Amino acid sequence: MKREKTIQVFLGSVAIGGHSSISVESMGRIYPGRVDECLSEICAAAAAGSDCFRIAVPDERALSGIIQLKKYSPLPLIADIHFSPTIALKAVEAGIDGIRVNPGTWKNQLQYHQLIEKLKAGSGVLRLGANAGSLPSHLQKKGRVEALLDSIIEMLEVPQKKDFHRIILSAKSTDINETIEVYERLAATFSYPLHVGLTEAGEGFEGIIKSTIALGTILQKGIGNNIRVSLTSPNPILESQVAVEILRGVGLRQKGIEVISCPTCARTRGDVVSFVREIKAAVQKISSPSPLKLAIMGCEVNGPGEAKEADLGLAFGKSTALLFVRGKVIKTVHQQNALNELIKQLRSMVSNQMVKE
Ligand code: SF4
Repeated sequence: MKREKTIQVFLGSVAIGGHSSISVESMGRIYPGRVDECLSEICAAAAAGSDCFRIAVPDERALSGIIQLKKYSPLPLIADIHFSPTIALKAVEAGIDGIRVNPGTWKNQLQYHQLIEKLKAGSGVLRLGANAGSLPSHLQKKGRVEALLDSIIEMLEVPQKKDFHRIILSAKSTDINETIEVYERLAATFSYPLHVGLTEAGEGFEGIIKSTIALGTILQKGIGNNIRVSLTSPNPILESQVAVEILRGVGLRQKGIEVISCPTCARTRGDVVSFVREIKAAVQKISSPSPLKLAIMGCEVNGPGEAKEADLGLAFGKSTALLFVRGKVIKTVHQQNALNELIKQLRSMVSNQMVKE
């Protein structure tokens, strides 16, 4: 897939744009003043596939929290600040990796100049993140796509005049078609990396489906350098997992283990549903530096054919299962031992990869 060219910026140690792989951002639910809980949340997001983490910083106590978190966080941090330029300036002075500024909630032009100067003097990244729900008042009579784009263009004037280009852009709507259009136009107009998301996608499968359509379509067009899935959920784990699966689905996640499985039918020879749940839980704990495909199939009719295409496959038979490694049956195992055998093979494949690297 041909990707739109952008410049590259570094959010802490994570490269965004240029030739770097597409990274995943997730966002904290916990107030950053509760430092220990917040750190656990960041670690959980990292384990679920996030590469960077955004935290709302609504007041001075939250600012102290995020500054402490910066010392221990395994992921680069982006401070999400609205209505309070003073807190934004202090966050940049404290060396935060990135700062998200919303054109609709930033009112002070003088402090915006100061912010850009401070960013330029340090290493932090500016994410200009417009949102259709908080457009600047003078643009609200325009159509939402135009208003989103204009709000970005207006906010780019100061950094461009000051020759500051460590910038990531985003412009999100709740509407899938608007989101696709706005990102196409951002990609056609600017060479800054794009953070892509559908805002307020919702809860559960509705949110996942809407996000998958919007982000999948945009990514398939070669657009986007960093993504976030915005789901109504109590923690950032699900949104991280969904983002990773979207990237994997469009062939843009070059690491980790993909589990494919048959839908089951009247021919199914074992409890495939429970088996797949168990293997997926086990896979979450195994980190593979290269992509690996694992196939779980319910019978000996289509199963062997499908399982053969994967790096590692299992096809259920009558009380037994065939284990395939890259197209070859390596053994027949009893179904009750199949999970352990599969995990053993998987771990061995992953450690062989690591040795080769
Ligand atoms: S692989 Fe076998 S059990 Fe699974 S859906 Fe296909 S025919 Fe049915």
